[in-house]
Amino acid sequence: MGLFSKDIQSFEDLFMHGLQDLFYAENQILQALPGMIDKAPSAELRAGFEKHRKETEGHVQRLRQVFDLLDTEPKGEKCPAIDGILKEGKDLMGEIEGDDVMNVGLIAAAQAVEHYEITRYGALIAWAGELGRTDLIPLFKANLADEKATDQKLTSLAEKRFNPQAEKKTSASKPKSTARRKTAKPSRAPAKAKRALARKKRAG
Ligand code: FE
Ligand code: FE
Repeated sequence: MGLFSKDIQSFEDLFMHGLQDLFYAENQILQALPGMIDKAPSAELRAGFEKHRKETEGHVQRLRQVFDLLDTEPKGEKCPAIDGILKEGKDLMGEIEGDDVMNVGLIAAAQAVEHYEITRYGALIAWAGELGRTDLIPLFKANLADEKATDQKLTSLAEKRFNPQAEKKTSASKPKSTARRKTAKPSRAPAKAKRALARKKRAG
């Protein structure tokens, strides 16, 4: 980023920086997804990640087309934001024990990635319009549509977890509905988490 930071003087520079940033991000996400597929206990979540891995290959290709239309070589610019989001997800996966918690943790980590992408595509679409490069917009919009659909799919997977009819495996500890979850005490939370909560209470 340092090299580029003083080079952004025009709107065009800012657009190009955003594009290179996102090109880097999509490639990093492509590398991170196999690890998430490996870790996901839910078959449905694994299938969803695999589907999105294939879509992400398409995202990289569409961004290559954008570079092509701009007569520039595809180039990535290191993006600390996506590095941080992916690192946090990876660290979290290393700390989670238990399938149910892992599924929920992975869904939240993946949604952080999708939300990042949604904001970046939104900005690039607006900036391409401002710069009169409406020819680039359909390519960005196609990627954005995949990110939004993935985000919604993840939300429905998270909600499904709280619906006992939708899940084959049910356990006594699983809340029956989101409404009940809001009021239920975390009485069956793992002892470690309970101790951590107690420490936090004392500290705060
Ligand atoms: Fe993407
Ligand atoms: Fe995505």
